[in-house]
Amino acid sequence: MTENLIVGAGITGATLARLLAQAGQKVLVIDKKDHIAGHCYDYIDENNICIHKYGSHIFHTDNERVWNFLKPFADLNTYRHKVTALIDGIETTIPFNMNTLKSVFPDSIAQKLEEKLLAKYAYNQKIPIAEFKMQDDADLQFLARYVYEKVFEGYSTKQWGCIPDSSVTARVPVYISRDDRYFQDKYQGIPLGGYTKMIARMLNHPNVRVRLRTDYRTYKRKHDRIFYTGSIDEFFDYKFGPLPYRSLTFKLETHDKTFYQSNAVINYPCNYDFVRIHEYKYYLDDKSDKTVIAKEYSEDFELGKNDRYYPIVATNQALHNAYLVEAQKHNNLHFLGRLGDYKYYDMDDAITRALDVFAQEGR
Ligand code: FAD
Ligand code: UDP
Repeated sequence: MTENLIVGAGITGATLARLLAQAGQKVLVIDKKDHIAGHCYDYIDENNICIHKYGSHIFHTDNERVWNFLKPFADLNTYRHKVTALIDGIETTIPFNMNTLKSVFPDSIAQKLEEKLLAKYAYNQKIPIAEFKMQDDADLQFLARYVYEKVFEGYSTKQWGCIPDSSVTARVPVYISRDDRYFQDKYQGIPLGGYTKMIARMLNHPNVRVRLRTDYRTYKRKHDRIFYTGSIDEFFDYKFGPLPYRSLTFKLETHDKTFYQSNAVINYPCNYDFVRIHEYKYYLDDKSDKTVIAKEYSEDFELGKNDRYYPIVATNQALHNAYLVEAQKHNNLHFLGRLGDYKYYDMDDAITRALDVFAQEGR
């Protein structure tokens, strides 16, 4: 029987482990951390609040294939994510939408812009600001400049250390709508009991063994097949140079009050060192007379100093491709996941990728 080694017990590794196990194969999952769930890891703290250790995670997908796989393990609650941002002292909705227009501009300007947008675009359409910039229309160009300066420029400079390319800003397009939710996907929410429990359920199968505190670099045993969800440059000892990442630090504060802020995430595009503040008790409606917040700071990833969070995809394709060519020289070695594929995956993308790898390689 094929012996599979999966490196990484995050959502990618756990999805693939489950699929292989259900197909009757034996799987060993190792992770260098002392917990499963990778970046989705959460835990209940001493205040009875579920903390997302690596930052707020909200599950959302329109993909039926993903949902069909996940639903036996995840009972989603009815939480609907809302994000606000502090712009010129006004707390307003992000993504920028018709309600944001009304809160940041005087009525006459908001009205004019709204009419322009509705004349040109369908209601409920999502428009990246790059599209407004291309229009031969002074009002739309003004709006693009405003959103860029007030929403993206400061935040992205803190988050990425530079202005990111338009594929990153296109993740948060202007929404021609009054729907204040951050996501419109059919399936969304937080798994009841949290992500760690959800991933534990995925890994709970007689064909799956999990070994924590086990780094692949020092774990030298042979397996027929390796699925690697760590960073591909590390696997190859950085022979073409390190792949750059951004890293994050979350500074937790406990406050002696029921709530600290109006909703789970407030972005700070201007004026502050941190990019956003998370308040965790909103996610599972935790009952506590205290609250825990996390201020999120961004910096470059440095080996030995901090953890890899965001691949800096646009400017490092050639380097990543060099590693992919190297990977193709090895039989039965497959890279996947946010680090393995060096892609800005959300959780549903990570599951999709594991489903695809299983479909291709899982026999
Ligand atoms: P990871 O979770 O990084 O897991 C990889 C695992 O491999 C880790 O546990 C690591 O310890 C292990 N590993 C690495 N190298 C080795 C080695 N050499 N030996 C042993 N083990 C190793 N997605 C959403 O859908 N919604 C959200 O709201 C959302 N919010 C996010 C917020 C932040 C701040 C971040 C950073 C990401 C967010 N994501 C969100 C994305 C989500 O975290 C990822 O899609 C998901 O965690 C990817 O899972 P993964 O298993 O590929 O990687
Ligand atoms: N972004 C921004 N201002 C905001 C929200 C997002 O500049 O108020 C940019 C920023 O570059 C961020 C990217 O859009 O990294 C993607 O935002 P998303 O909310 O998807 O970020 P994530 O939750 O993945 O960090």
